[in-house]
Formats: sequence, structure tokens, C-alpha cells
Amino acid sequence: MSSFITLFWFRQDFRISDNPGLFEAAQNGAILPVYILDETCPAQFKQGEASKWWMYHSLHKLNICLNSTLNFYVGDPQVILTNIIQENDVKAVYWNKVFEPWQLEKDAQIESNLKKRGIVCKSFNGSLLWEPESNFSKNGTPYRMFTPFYRNGCLQAPSPRKPLPIPEKIISLKDQGCRTTLEDLKLLPSISWYKSIEHFWEIGEQAAQRQLAKFLEFGLKGYKKNRNYPSKDATSRLSPYLHFGEISPHQVWQGIQVKCAADESIINEDKESFLSEIGWREFSYYLLYHFPNLPYKSFYKKFEDFPWKPNTEFLKAWQKGLTGYPFVDAGMRELWQTGYMHNRVRMVVASFLVKNLLQDWRTGASWFLDCLLDADIASNTINWQWVAGSGVDAAPYFRIFNPILQGEKFDPKGIYTRRFVPELDKLPDKYLFKPWQTPDYILKECNIILGVTYPYPIINLQHSRKESIEAYNKISL
Ligand SMILES: Cc1cc2nc3c(=O)[nH]c(=O)nc-3n(C[C@H](O)[C@H](O)[C@H](O)COP(=O)(O)OP(=O)(O)OC[C@H]3O[C@@H](n4cnc5c(N)ncnc54)[C@H](O)[C@@H]3O)c2cc1C
Repeated sequence: MSSFITLFWFRQDFRISDNPGLFEAAQNGAILPVYILDETCPAQFKQGEASKWWMYHSLHKLNICLNSTLNFYVGDPQVILTNIIQENDVKAVYWNKVFEPWQLEKDAQIESNLKKRGIVCKSFNGSLLWEPESNFSKNGTPYRMFTPFYRNGCLQAPSPRKPLPIPEKIISLKDQGCRTTLEDLKLLPSISWYKSIEHFWEIGEQAAQRQLAKFLEFGLKGYKKNRNYPSKDATSRLSPYLHFGEISPHQVWQGIQVKCAADESIINEDKESFLSEIGWREFSYYLLYHFPNLPYKSFYKKFEDFPWKPNTEFLKAWQKGLTGYPFVDAGMRELWQTGYMHNRVRMVVASFLVKNLLQDWRTGASWFLDCLLDADIASNTINWQWVAGSGVDAAPYFRIFNPILQGEKFDPKGIYTRRFVPELDKLPDKYLFKPWQTPDYILKECNIILGVTYPYPIINLQHSRKESIEAYNKISL
């Protein structure tokens, strides 16, 4: 073991197990663990309010794992790293890459400047199973369809590496010149809106491992079918942990392999279905890497001419869960109350906003980025464009989710919808997803006054569907 100090720069990898950069840095000798709140981050990529809340707790937990030696800074990473290096005997800087194009670009500048000063720089991949730069279709261009990307590009490539252990010894140092504390990062909002969210989540690396173990034990069997029902606790809920790197995709991938090898009762269909969702996460980062404009621009250029009909009233009703469509409202309230929304319902509310209310997909994506605890530029963008029909391998434009039928099919007993729209609690299942069709005497029995205790639908589904397809036909000509 050599004896120089390696600065380890934590990015979106808030864990000490299977952390390739940290693992190698610890082999060098003492490390100076650093987190920098990057003030130069472009406004559109800044963390949303929900993410900041999660990150506060995540950093707190990470700091505990590092015996309170994590050094916090706010500002321009280029300047801050240079200062730290000058004031401490740092000879090397290591980090795990964040596969977002603007971050990679900035990293390249930092690396080049530090190298000019004689500092050793090494960056690692701790967040993707297959690196995006080396995966191409037969004709040498980036894949544009999920199935060939995943089946040919990923599954035919060497299997993901096995997770690394926690470094045997981490000698971590405090920067004596650093006066900034976690509180100074001002991640917690002044209004404590997050109180309702707090009950639903445990944060940090150990919590992520427990969550994975729980899913392997109770969720994996039957995943393929059950994942569609929002009232069931049938998906892994690993998305915020994966986003902040409290768990690595390698740990999840390996966890699945080990569990399936040991438990013959888990059928291949469930295993494949879950792994392919992890594949969608890979595909999202892959697309963002190769098409960096995706967060602002529709992949298909013709969508830039789409005749959206901006309407603040519609947008507000959607955000507050007051559209008059109970399945949509349940989803939007789940988001507000828990910081999460079930995937099936994400598709339904997104389709409703874009295809029934004709609001630009970017308005919805930006609300999600502010409210989701798993808010992730890559996954969020790709999924919004998928629903809108404007993106790669997208749902065809005419596929418009019907929130009444979706509710009846995927929440047949209304357990999920009643939970988040309690004012409709007493409504019989038959009317739950279309309360305006309920006979007056039943509404009365249920203490529901439409337009007062619960809104009338803000839009007619059939008319808006027709209008939407007409608008689409205009741009596809
Ligand atoms: C409009 C819309 C916006 C979305 N925004 C985000 C977002 O900001 N961040 C985010 O992580 N996911 C996003 N998703 C994808 C998906 O809804 C969530 O990843 C999933 O619901 C998280 O729950 P889970 O961890 O229980 O998923 P599981 O079903 O247990 O899946 C396991 C993991 O696979 C990945 N995954 C699953 N589905 C997808 C998908 N469709 N695309 C990419 N990765 C996927 C996630 O990392 C997830 O944790 C969005 C989906 C839609 C339709």
C-alpha cells in the first residue's frame, strides 16, 4: 500500500460496497472523501425538491458509514477540487462517472486540468451494467429499439461483473480547512411538506440492501403479472436507491442470479421480466448518452411542431389530482403523498396529460422531476417520450391509455384508488372510475356531491382522444 492521499469524489454513488472508485482509492492508502454540491449545474438538471430531501438523508447515512469524515462543499467542482488539492497532500483524484452527457463533459475538463498539475485522475463505472460507449448495432450506429439493444447488445456481451466487497480498510481523513456542513447544503426545504413522505421510506445503503432482500423473498415470484397492479406491493421499489447509487445495478443483478439459482420455484418468466426492467434503465442512460438533447427535444423532430394547447388550469388540476378521473387523481396524489408513483399509473397519468389534455410532455416531465424521489433525467425523459410517442421505440401515438378501463383492469377492487381518493371511498366498484355516471341516490348515500366534494371530469375522453389524433395526423403528414 502506498502512502499518498487519494481524494475520492462521491457523485451519485452513496455507498461503500461495490463502489469501484472507492475500492481502488482505498488500496492507495488514506482517502479524503468529498461531496460537492455543484452550483454550476444547469438549472434544468438541478435536483428537484423531493430528490434534495432524499439526498440529505442519503448523505447523512453515508457520512455515518465513513465515521463522520465526509467533507462537504458547495460551488464549482473545478475550483473546489483545485483548492482541496492545494491545501492537502492529495496526489490522486478518483470518482465514479455519472453517465449524463454534461457531467461527462465537465469531468473531462476537470481531468485535463488536474492532470496538468500532475494529479493522477481515474474515473470508474459504478452505475451501469454495460457502458454505453461500446454498444452498437450491426451497422455501427447506436441502437434505437429496446429489444435488439438488450438482447443483442447487452445479453450477448460479457455478463456484468460481480459486485465488489467493502474495502477491507478505509482510512478516511477530514479536510481541516473545510467548514461546510451537510446543513449548509440547504437540501431540506423550509416548509416541512415531506412529513407525509417520511413514513414510507428508509434511506441509505443498508436500507437499500434490506429492500432488495425483501423483494427477492416476497416480490420476485409472480413479478411479471403482479407488477401491473398498483395496490400490490409487488415491485422492488429500488428506483431511488439505484438513482442515488445506494445500491448498484450489479448488486441487484447478482442478487437475482443467486436467488434464482437457489430457489427453483422462481420461474424464468419472472426473472427475465425483472431483469429486462433493469435493462430499460440501461437503455435510458444509453439513449441519453448517444442523444444528449433528449431532455429538451423530442427525438422525432416532427414532434417539435406538435400543436400543444398550454392550459394552466388543466396542468394544475393534473398536478393536484383533481381531474375528475379517479385513477389519474390517485396516481398524482400518490406522487405528492409518498414521493413515488407505481409504473402502471405513471403511464396512465402521463398519457392523460399529453394525449387527452394536449400538454407538452416536457411540462409533465418537469413536474415529475420535482416530485419523484427517484427523479432521474435519463429514465424520466425516455419514459415521457415513450408515452408521448415522440421518442425512440415509443408507444404509437394512437395508443391512448383510457383511465377508466385502466382503473377497472388494474385496480378492480379499487383498493389503490380509494386509498388516495378517500372522498370516493363508499362508491361501489361499478362507478368508482366514472363517478359522474353514478345515479343521484347512490351519490347521496355515499355523501358525494360532484363539483363540490369531488370534481366533474375536466375533459371528455372521447372528444379529447379524437382531437389528439387529429393533431397528431397534422404533424405526421
Ligand atoms: C412517465 C414516466 C416517468 C418515469 N420517471 C422515472 C424516473 O424519473 N426515475 C426512474 O427511476 N424511473 C422512472 N420511470 C420508470 C418506472 O416507472 C420506475 O423505474 C419504477 O416504477 C420504479 O419502481 P420500482 O423500483 O418498484 O420498479 P421495478 O419494477 O421493481 O423495476 C426495477 C428497476 O428497474 C428500473 N426500471 C423499471 N421500469 C423502468 C422503466 N420503464 N424505465 C427505466 N427504468 C426502469 C428501475 O431502476 C427500477 O427500480 C418512469 C416511468 C414513466 C412511465
